[in-house]
Amino acid sequence: MVPGVRLVVLGKQGAGKGTQCVRLSHHFVVPHVSTGDMLRAEVKSRTPLGQRAKALMDQGELISDDLVMEMVGQRIDDSDTQARGFVLDGCPRTISQAQHLADLLEPDHLDLVLDLEVPTTMVLKRLASRRVCVDCGANYSVASPPLTNWTCDVCGGEVIQREDDTEDAIRRRLELYDRQTAPLIEWYQRHDLLISINGTGSPDAVTRRCVKAIDDRRSNRSPVEV
Ligand SMILES: [Zn+2]
Repeated sequence: MVPGVRLVVLGKQGAGKGTQCVRLSHHFVVPHVSTGDMLRAEVKSRTPLGQRAKALMDQGELISDDLVMEMVGQRIDDSDTQARGFVLDGCPRTISQAQHLADLLEPDHLDLVLDLEVPTTMVLKRLASRRVCVDCGANYSVASPPLTNWTCDVCGGEVIQREDDTEDAIRRRLELYDRQTAPLIEWYQRHDLLISINGTGSPDAVTRRCVKAIDDRRSNRSPVEV
């Protein structure tokens, strides 16, 4: 049996984080827990949490740490994640969220935090050609469009270029990400959980590096009971 894993994946926009999270969740047979996907689902099905999130977004406010952690806490309490683990995508973003996550997992720990590293110049190019489904958030690009006429393969929604995907705006977002994430990366380094992964090259090559990092880490430690 493939052992499960408790994994956090970090990476700036355009680093291929979503793609790698899906691949790693298949490899280790654990759910891909994406805060973006979960938020969209909560809003769409008008749960109490979704309504609170929507009210914040409508006012142009950021979703609070508490709301995100409440959602993540519920999800990692489910039987599938309890039994085998998860690939967590989009959280934590701050040290306070990381601390909260560690508390939620007690007495267990994360196995590893992977940081996908891709040079900014490369990410800029990727993001400028990116196209996104307005309904489910699925990613496409000019080079790999949906099968039919910018209609989402997954949900049939409209696939568009986001208005804020101009080069200047992208550059500003990337700089902001680096500033905000640097303390989080240091925090995970201090806790001996962080491994940087070279995120350039084919998706297959990146997945192989991620899997190897996780397997290597495990073979150097007593196996986690899952
Ligand atoms: Zn879609």
